[in-house]
Amino acid sequence: MVVEDDVSVAELVTLYLRNAGFIVEHATTASRARAAFKETKPAIVVLDLGLPDGDGLELFRELRSHHDTPVLLLTARADDEDKIASLEAGVDDYMTKPFNPRELVARVRSVLRRASGMPGGGRTLELGDLRLDPSRHEVTVAGRAIALRAKEFELLEAFLRQPGIVLTRDKLLEDVWGFAYPGETRTVDVHVKQLRDKPDGMAAKIETVFGVGYKLVGPDGT
Ligand code: CA
Repeated sequence: MVVEDDVSVAELVTLYLRNAGFIVEHATTASRARAAFKETKPAIVVLDLGLPDGDGLELFRELRSHHDTPVLLLTARADDEDKIASLEAGVDDYMTKPFNPRELVARVRSVLRRASGMPGGGRTLELGDLRLDPSRHEVTVAGRAIALRAKEFELLEAFLRQPGIVLTRDKLLEDVWGFAYPGETRTVDVHVKQLRDKPDGMAAKIETVFGVGYKLVGPDGT
């Protein structure tokens, strides 16, 4: 979610994030951001410090008191005190305007990686009876080990890092295969099908979101 009242900045950021495979929600005020946050449960918030109806840092403190959603703060003030206050408040990263939108995309990815644990060495990911241990490269369903090929494992890991969030085929291509190769999104479909056929009895399901991509849904439907 991008919370930014400057339309030209918001459009630029949204464009670059969409091109990188993210689904972007945009809010122009703190109050709209509050409402949209409840609706969409974003994976990360890119938050402008100066909003028309409040201070971005206040909004951040409010969000952080209930959620551990990572936040990247944007500001026009190149003031070290602001930066220190933001980082002390616990924002995950901080960028001063004007910034290079490609750097923003890289930082968003980096924050998401840190927030979800480093690939290959992170915490165990769980959803319902499904458990994936990145460091031991193990997947179990209700305690039974499931044999997965390398790409199937990485694909399941990508879903488990953002359960309930729709992931586009392009984003999955980039996350799992390392780079985007347009037109090759069928590769994703093939591997999703293989994954669906594998862990039988698994309560979590990979749902198709028509025209968009896929999402992993837990046993309670969230
Ligand atoms: Ca602003």
